Amino acid sequence: MDLDVLLQATKKQLKPERFEHTLRVVDTAVELAKRFGADPPKAKIASILHDYCKFWSREQLTQWIKRCQLPLDLLEYHKEIWHAPVGAEVAREEFGIVDEDILQSIRSHTVGRPGMSTLEKVVYLADYIEPGRRFPGVDEVRRLAEIDLDVAVLQAMDNTILFLQSQQQPIYPLAIAARDELKRMLS
Ligand code: GDP
Ligand code: FE
Ligand code: FE
Ligand code: FE
Repeated sequence: MDLDVLLQATKKQLKPERFEHTLRVVDTAVELAKRFGADPPKAKIASILHDYCKFWSREQLTQWIKRCQLPLDLLEYHKEIWHAPVGAEVAREEFGIVDEDILQSIRSHTVGRPGMSTLEKVVYLADYIEPGRRFPGVDEVRRLAEIDLDVAVLQAMDNTILFLQSQQQPIYPLAIAARDELKRMLS
């Protein structure tokens, strides 16, 4: 896989600040992959592509969701969560990525899912703690990410769900299922 091709293609899709975010996610994910035993080259590929569809229109994302037979209940929730599952389909169709763990890591980077692999958790967490992120509670998650991948991911999920609830936003059911499964596993 030529990473430069992926990087240049991604750069064309994103606003400059968002591409900078992507580069920071790559570095953070590689670091976390080494720390927690995921494959750094896979972490790199998934991270480069994770926000590829971030600025696609509602129409284009909807078209892909329907054509690729992604869960149609996505369309009943906030558009912000659509770029992740669609991104995985684009990675497969346009960049020929066949590694299911990489595809799944792109797919689950926004809401997570129950039974996430180490690579998925690494990408999810890197997206949340990359050094450009400034939300309440992120420093605590950064601290946890030095020590325990699962505990850190659970804290990130809890923070996100609580934040969205405080904004009266509906929570996609998979996000709740992901959080509850990790919580059960850790208790
Ligand atoms: P980004 O693409 O790097 O900005 O980060 P993400 O892909 O993780 O998140 C994109 C947006 O989706 C953020 O604004 C989250 O708050 C939001 N989000 C995450 N989970 C959910 C959810 O379950 N429901 C809704 N409505 N939004 C969510
Ligand atoms: Fe994203
Ligand atoms: Fe995220
Ligand atoms: Fe991101």
